[in-house]
Amino acid sequence: MPYKAWFQCIGDCGEKYALDEMVYECRRCGELLEVRHDMEELRKKPAAEWKSLWDARYRRTEWPYGSSVWGKKELVCPAVRDENIVSLYEGGSNLFRASRLGEQIGVENLWVKLCGNEHTGSFKDLGMTVLVSMVNQMIAGGKKILGVACASTGDTSAALAAYCAAAGIQAIVFLPRGKVSTAQLIQPIANGALTLSLDTDFDGCMQLIRQICTRENIYLANSMNSLRVEGQKTVAIEIVQQLDWEVPDWIIIPGGNLGNVSALGKGLMEMSELGIIRKLPRIACAQAAQANPLYRSYRTGFAEFHPVKAKRTAATAIQIGNPVSVKKAIKVLKEFNGVVEEATEDELSNACALADRTGLYTCPHTGVALAALFKLVKKGQIRKSDHVVVISTAHGLKFSEFKTRYHEGKLPEVTPRYANLPVELPAEYEAVKSAIFKAIEK
Ligand SMILES: *Cc1c(COP(=O)(O)O)cnc(C)c1O
Ligand SMILES: [Zn+2]
Repeated sequence: MPYKAWFQCIGDCGEKYALDEMVYECRRCGELLEVRHDMEELRKKPAAEWKSLWDARYRRTEWPYGSSVWGKKELVCPAVRDENIVSLYEGGSNLFRASRLGEQIGVENLWVKLCGNEHTGSFKDLGMTVLVSMVNQMIAGGKKILGVACASTGDTSAALAAYCAAAGIQAIVFLPRGKVSTAQLIQPIANGALTLSLDTDFDGCMQLIRQICTRENIYLANSMNSLRVEGQKTVAIEIVQQLDWEVPDWIIIPGGNLGNVSALGKGLMEMSELGIIRKLPRIACAQAAQANPLYRSYRTGFAEFHPVKAKRTAATAIQIGNPVSVKKAIKVLKEFNGVVEEATEDELSNACALADRTGLYTCPHTGVALAALFKLVKKGQIRKSDHVVVISTAHGLKFSEFKTRYHEGKLPEVTPRYANLPVELPAEYEAVKSAIFKAIEK
């Protein structure tokens, strides 16, 4: 492939690094890096040709291009040779019209993008395939890498463990003890990762892993490693592709460490630079009120930003007080005329339950995004005629404890408005019949 990409410092220094260097922050000024592409070269192919190339590959079997991440390889990570790619067929998740939920909240054109319908049950696979493929290529080229490590709120570790297992690379995951769901804890264990359960929160895990990866020959897989952003940005391309290359008015996305909202913006901006789209959607980033540093910054017009101590929230994957990608996220929100909204525990839990009643099966983070949508519609910021896409970030099946406790009325600070409990009965005809008629006559 003639296309080139490299790491570049997002600060003023603009230093560049090769994509196969073990570097996560600028060595000159300490800023984050981002992957830059030779847009000049990419622009030589007309937009219509990019669209037909990506459509031709989409969900087909020509390996690895049927993966919606690798189907866009030229714009994702052209330097990885096909033989080094570690893919479990990413992307291609369903984008569907949530008609009944839309009707209930008064948004006619509401769509949900189910990024939880990935191999490990969250959008994290989209980025991890790129990162692990690059590590695989580095190892194949003779680099000494002892393992790949991440701090995680549960989904990053699941994705890292699966992709490393598929490649035969050692994965090491740092989890905050007692702050991830049972499903998320067992995923890396099942995939053979060294799983370290630490007596701290996510921010504490993050601090430790940065030290380990700086001092030892261990590769860092957190989203400050901007290779992941390249995979995750394909969700922006895929949404537009699934809408037959039309751009919605709004995209709503939950944010914690803020890598994903940065990725969404990057994907859209690059499509715009290639002439594939002509307008930009507005972006709404949704945070849990218990961990809302970006929301607080938004309220100051992004003039200030202060990390917070994240408090306990059911939306555990975004229980983050000091987001690594905050600068990138604020830049994106400014470019996309963005807004930030927050959701309390009561709001996010009831939003999940309401959505589930219309056939979804939402994770708490998706509940944060939906609650934000409901509030933005109420405030009139999102109009009833707007075309809205909500990004659902993980599969609801990872969060059975959350749903169980909701319906049992056991979630703190939550009044369950849509609780539905099993009816326990003797196995007798009359008892069963009267229970049915009592329920349906209500
Ligand atoms: C990682 C994650 C998020 C947050 O993404 P960030 O890039 O950290 O903002 C949201 N929801 C789920 C389910 C996640 O796993
Ligand atoms: Zn720099």
